[in-house]
Amino acid sequence: MILKEEREQVVEFGKKLVELGLTVGTFGNVSVYSPKEKLMAISPSGMDYFQIDPEDVVVLTPDGEKVDGEAKPSSEYDMHRIFYQKRPGVNAVIHTHSVYATTLACLHWKIEPIHYEVAYAGPDVPCIPYVQFGTYELAVAALQAMGNDHYACLLGNHGLLAVGSSLTYALDVAQQTEFVAQLYYNTRVAGGGVNLTDKDMKNVLGAFQSYRQR
Ligand code: 13P
Ligand code: ZN
Repeated sequence: MILKEEREQVVEFGKKLVELGLTVGTFGNVSVYSPKEKLMAISPSGMDYFQIDPEDVVVLTPDGEKVDGEAKPSSEYDMHRIFYQKRPGVNAVIHTHSVYATTLACLHWKIEPIHYEVAYAGPDVPCIPYVQFGTYELAVAALQAMGNDHYACLLGNHGLLAVGSSLTYALDVAQQTEFVAQLYYNTRVAGGGVNLTDKDMKNVLGAFQSYRQR
């Protein structure tokens, strides 16, 4: 089986999305890119995460051509492959419908730096206007909103997109962004919340470079 390890990872991380409460039912999707093979492995569309076997994970080129797998790839494959085409260093993409990030996406609110952990995603988390799911237009809007220095964005009236150098990192981005989305919503609903300054965030982004063990 080609891309065996990557397909197994997609199965594993799909289950994690459900176990961590980051998505409900068959929504959301996961992919990983192999720079060596120049191929991506993406979750199949509309399948229960606990029923997916590595063979169900679809292998595509970054141009969207199917290389292996019987199943239909995620309807959001454009929103995954566009990052492998256009953002060097991005090797994993995770899309979720987690509750607080999606709440803010429905409000069309961006996440301002209310807590330093927003740095997992960037200096803030932008929100794009509503664009129908599964369209190339949605992929382009997300890519543009994230530029070169953001690792997450909110998809208007839809959900969250997180990217990273690996699935482990992309999942961290999705989890921490959901956490900060919850804080942001709570503080705004409480009528306040004090944002960190640009200088604070610049310092945090610098400190994060050396925060992790690996
Ligand atoms: P897929 O099941 O096709 O991956 O779609 C789920 C989703 O969240 C669409 O935005
Ligand atoms: Zn979705």
